[in-house]
Amino acid sequence: MKPVTQAIRIQTERTNEMEHSTPLFLTSSFCFDNAEEMRAAFADESNDNIYSRFSNPNVQEFTDKMVALEGAEAGYATATGMSAVFASFMALLKKGDHLLACNSLFGSTITVLNKYLPNFGIEVSYVSAADTASWEAAIKPNTKMIYLETPTNPGLDIIDLAFAGALAKKHHLLLNVDNCFATPVNQRPIDFGADLVVHSATKWIDGQGRVLGGVVLGKKELIHQIYLFCRSTGPALSPFNAWILSKSLETLDVRMERHAANALQIAKTLEGHEKISWMKYPFLPSHPQHAIAVQQMKNGGALVSFDLKGGVESGRKFLNHLKMLSLTANLGDTRSIASHPASTTHAKLTEAERAAVNITPGLIRISAGLEHIDDILADILQALEQC
Ligand SMILES: *Cc1c(COP(=O)(O)O)cnc(C)c1O
Repeated sequence: MKPVTQAIRIQTERTNEMEHSTPLFLTSSFCFDNAEEMRAAFADESNDNIYSRFSNPNVQEFTDKMVALEGAEAGYATATGMSAVFASFMALLKKGDHLLACNSLFGSTITVLNKYLPNFGIEVSYVSAADTASWEAAIKPNTKMIYLETPTNPGLDIIDLAFAGALAKKHHLLLNVDNCFATPVNQRPIDFGADLVVHSATKWIDGQGRVLGGVVLGKKELIHQIYLFCRSTGPALSPFNAWILSKSLETLDVRMERHAANALQIAKTLEGHEKISWMKYPFLPSHPQHAIAVQQMKNGGALVSFDLKGGVESGRKFLNHLKMLSLTANLGDTRSIASHPASTTHAKLTEAERAAVNITPGLIRISAGLEHIDDILADILQALEQC
């Protein structure tokens, strides 16, 4: 079966009720018929569930679907995207190792890399997302892992996954990719040589702004290390959230197609608008890495970034005049969302620090939702008139 079909058809074994949709297994532990079965489960001789911190049928169903979608060997689902990211570092890196990361990453990931990994003797350095030619020289004798996101946020730079995969292979490094922004129906890093893929399921995988979740996928022996770390330290995904997320995966492919179609339409309509100095979308021919984007992505994704000529003040005005788009600290929802990083998520940085990560004063990021495109465009265009 194709991965998209597997995301619909993989299902926990039916109970005696013969339900069509998987029920919710809200149980913290599982029973055994006798001492021998219990001994075998604890000795890892059977796949029986023991305790929901280790495994649970709803969590397993969600994980199995993600394994199929990413083309991975194995996976482990976690409570949040950040616990997946953190577990992928803590289980596989140790004191004295060096992690090479691209410089445009999710904010909390940067905090983990700058503030916590050094406490455990793990060295971190950064390379430019837009300039992969500089990467090889940054590899040190103790480099163990390359970590990247593509497309990056909010700059929407595209990193060449085939290049990163080949570089990691040449130097015997682990390539770990946060694939949250593309989702596996749009881009599969493992096909390009990634060893690990991490996700925040909170974004498009849920796609409806309801639950938090995360997952790590990749080679069996690496996932086993991550499983052992998580089983002991406890960032387990709740069965309820897994049940929601597993259902969400059934519609991920169709949702992402519409998200991307709406985003492309916004990008095409606004490119060249008199109030905008530039427009960035991976599937616009004007995007600097357009050729790489079409090579590794099925569509341009749901995010669009543009810069208002009027700077910070225009950014505030734009947000204030939106009537339908949501102002919220999230993305990947059926509802379109607008954000202005310079006055919100990145307001604490100096202008120079923002410039270093390509956040201009007038940068606006739109997460295209699933509303009718006419309504999305009408709202954006009327707000632009006020800037
Ligand atoms: C949101 C996000 C995360 C963190 O996920 P949570 O579920 O909020 O913990 C990690 N990476 C990217 C790219 C994200 O957008």
